[in-house]
Amino acid sequence: MEIKSGYSYLRVIYSLIEDKKEVSTNNIANALGVKPASVTEMIHKLTKDSYILHKPYKNITLTKKGEKEAIKAIRRHRLIEDFLTRVLKINKKDALKQTLSMEHSLTDKTEIELCRFLERPMHDPINHKPIPHCEKKITCERCLAGRG
Ligand SMILES: [Zn+2]
Repeated sequence: MEIKSGYSYLRVIYSLIEDKKEVSTNNIANALGVKPASVTEMIHKLTKDSYILHKPYKNITLTKKGEKEAIKAIRRHRLIEDFLTRVLKINKKDALKQTLSMEHSLTDKTEIELCRFLERPMHDPINHKPIPHCEKKITCERCLAGRG
């Protein structure tokens, strides 16, 4: 996906849906610590690029394409969080800050190695939410085995 900052947006949208919270500009802005105006701009772009659907007075939803990217973003985010807090013992607040700047730059290869190294963690250590499996085509052995 070419819009790098869009990555975090898709992750946050996915997370709000997961928590059954309203996917609104304000909730997204709060989660990312940005101004609502920036959110409006990115929502525009993500809609134009068919990652999300945004109808007036309706919740923002993810398209199939958007959901695929969001799951990848969630996975990377939670794997990094797990590594920073559980392995490096970094406190949750600092770990979250670090994660936000690291999640964009992870390559597929590093992502798989991280999943392998952490022995396929099932839940993130901060919010205890499920970490999705490695992707079908790029996967570690544990995820492949667990997929059945
Ligand atoms: Zn894996």
